[in-house]
Amino acid sequence: MSSTTLTDAPKSAQSKSNQSSHPAVPTLPVNEIACTQFQIAADHMKLEREIQMVLRTPYRELTVQVPVRMDNGELQLFHGYRVQHNAVRGPYKGGLRFHHQVDVDEVRSLAALMTWKTALVDVPLGGAKGGVTCDPTKMSRHELQQLTRGFTQKIDMALGVYRDIPAPDVGTNAQVMAWIMDEYGKKHGYTPAIVTGKPVNLGGSLGREEATGRGTMVITREACKAFGIDIKGARVAIQGFGNVGMWAAKLIAELGAKIVAVSDVQGGIVQDGGLDLEKTIEHMRATGSVVGMKGTREVSNEELLALDVDVLIPAALGGAITNANVDQVRAKMIVEAANSPVTPDADDKLLARGVKVLPDILVNAGGVTVSYFEWVQNLQQFHWSHEKVNQELEVRMVRAWKAVYSRMERENIPLRLAAFTESLDRVAAAARQRY
Ligand code: GLU
Repeated sequence: MSSTTLTDAPKSAQSKSNQSSHPAVPTLPVNEIACTQFQIAADHMKLEREIQMVLRTPYRELTVQVPVRMDNGELQLFHGYRVQHNAVRGPYKGGLRFHHQVDVDEVRSLAALMTWKTALVDVPLGGAKGGVTCDPTKMSRHELQQLTRGFTQKIDMALGVYRDIPAPDVGTNAQVMAWIMDEYGKKHGYTPAIVTGKPVNLGGSLGREEATGRGTMVITREACKAFGIDIKGARVAIQGFGNVGMWAAKLIAELGAKIVAVSDVQGGIVQDGGLDLEKTIEHMRATGSVVGMKGTREVSNEELLALDVDVLIPAALGGAITNANVDQVRAKMIVEAANSPVTPDADDKLLARGVKVLPDILVNAGGVTVSYFEWVQNLQQFHWSHEKVNQELEVRMVRAWKAVYSRMERENIPLRLAAFTESLDRVAAAARQRY
């Protein structure tokens, strides 16, 4: 018995669009941030209605229930989602999020962001996202494994090496990817290319773990150069010290910047002269949080966003900088390492104040870029050196930055609009050729 529901675009959207020869653009209650950004770009570039109609809604949404027998003997029911937004440029690709706030609306908007991201770094992949509403920090390893295997079985029919390839996102990691590969393999045989971000032992790529942080560093470096901020000695605050925030901190510090503040869910720490990152990481590994690190001042996550720094990097969840706190932000540049950390109204205010906002679909595209390299290596059964991965990542990130920057100059538009129009152009071109 399958507990899945498999739908194409929602019925309301379909019926609206079929009503006349001039179809109304269907609307979906998707996460406002990504939807607004798409619409601003589509209007700016006068994207034709038909293409807008296709790109505004996802191709397929899968909602599943995953019952898990917990360690205490109780049966707990989880809900999981896989949303496939668009695949005109290649198979669906995107992470899998385990978080208590996950819902289908959020997954839907994150899936669309993946379509824009893969197009912007010009990898032959589309966009998808998955999620399970759960709190992985409160689950045992065994429970997480059961949940992951159950979820994999339920979405199996939508996955495939040339159909849809998941990867890690908030709350998941290489271990979760290993379980997905193993579970998928039980039915289909050894298939490492079914998932990326795997442990290196199991066919994962060297450099994948640091890839999103490395891409963030490359874009920060290029933007600092372009906007006249000296990265040497620049003061940087990072909200979120998970995989992305931690690697971004390390790699940006290597360029001579001072990481003066970092935070996690429990709070933040500040050291005006620059944090000792090795010691901070050690402290976090030992205690579970950066808070309490010797020689630092404690701040809340909210206070961290208001610090007097050159560069602010939100690297946690969406909606960190909103209309309510944007006036407190003092940074000259905001680097969106997280997905959708700045709401559109806050974005407008930052733009008016001349604060540079480097958009998520560019900044954090390093992860999916190296996922693409991992997929290629798995298909070819040939492993690249760490150096080659980093070099190829550097080339693609710089190329994407140049495309966005020159569009910004040419059309005299903000960076986010330049990034969106650049990637929408590429997706729309492929869509026109297919339809
Ligand atoms: N979850 C990451 C993202 O949001 C990586 C996706 C992937 O590698 O497929 O970009």
